[in-house]
Amino acid sequence: MKIAICVKQVPDSWAEKKMVNGLLDRESVDAVLNDLDEYAIEEALRIVEPLNEGKESPEHTITLISMGPDRASEAIRKGLSMGADDAVLVTDAALSGSDAIATSKVLSEVIKSGGFDLVFCGTESTDARMSVVPAMLAERLGWAQLTFAGSVKVDAAAKKVEIARMTESGVENMSASFPCVISVIEKINEPRYPSMAAKKKTIESKSLADISLTANEVGSTGAWTVVEDAQARPPRDKGVKIEDSGDAGTKLADYLAEKRLV
Ligand SMILES: Cc1cc2nc3c(=O)[nH]c(=O)nc-3n(C[C@H](O)[C@H](O)[C@H](O)COP(=O)(O)OP(=O)(O)OC[C@H]3O[C@@H](n4cnc5c(N)ncnc54)[C@H](O)[C@@H]3O)c2cc1C
Repeated sequence: MKIAICVKQVPDSWAEKKMVNGLLDRESVDAVLNDLDEYAIEEALRIVEPLNEGKESPEHTITLISMGPDRASEAIRKGLSMGADDAVLVTDAALSGSDAIATSKVLSEVIKSGGFDLVFCGTESTDARMSVVPAMLAERLGWAQLTFAGSVKVDAAAKKVEIARMTESGVENMSASFPCVISVIEKINEPRYPSMAAKKKTIESKSLADISLTANEVGSTGAWTVVEDAQARPPRDKGVKIEDSGDAGTKLADYLAEKRLV
């Protein structure tokens, strides 16, 4: 079984984020592996490790796939040191400003040529939070999609996957045959700390030409959405402090009523 995991490098959640010419400034801020993608890597490792146990060379493999700037290899290395086998990074100056439509096109081209059975994703990135790429991938590949999985069960021999999808109205049990795109929710598991040596593991770098795409299909040129204007979020106001001289309860209730919170 060949599993691919789409992983994105994003600005550190604590980093001060700013837009430059309608694009998020990704260069001057600390960058990390997207949180949700760590859960996807952990889930895939928990599926293949028992199946590979006792085998000289792993029969079931995990490949990380990312689209991003060169430095995205730092985030990929973290995933490799968690236990993934190898990786592909699509990096090209023309990708800057790519929207979700272009991102899904780039990733699907790599997936198509990789002979994968399953593709895992996080449910969302922590920078744009669009939560659309997994569904777009499934559409482009013509594969089934099992998204927002709170649990995943894989029967490699029968080439079948079952998930429990967490929704506001409860749990939906769903299943599909290989090949399939799966997105996992936060807290589906407890990601392990990176412990393996990853320096020797291969990160294959691909350009747009390597995946037979052209610059006008991606980046700001090919984007279907354009950021016309962006303003910094107003600083948080200090908030209201209620001194308790025996009437704090009333003051709090008045404040909540005034804000129509009760
Ligand atoms: C502030 C901001 C606003 C944006 N607004 C828009 C917009 O309105 N419309 C639009 O089309 N684009 C927008 N983008 C661009 C969009 O973020 C990128 O195209 C992005 O790569 C895909 O969207 P996402 O990060 O929201 O992905 P989601 O759909 O939230 O990501 C879900 C999963 O897809 C996978 N994934 C996502 N991106 C990558 C990647 N680059 N490499 C590998 N795996 C990946 C990961 O597994 C991730 O967990 C915006 C970006 C920013 C920073």
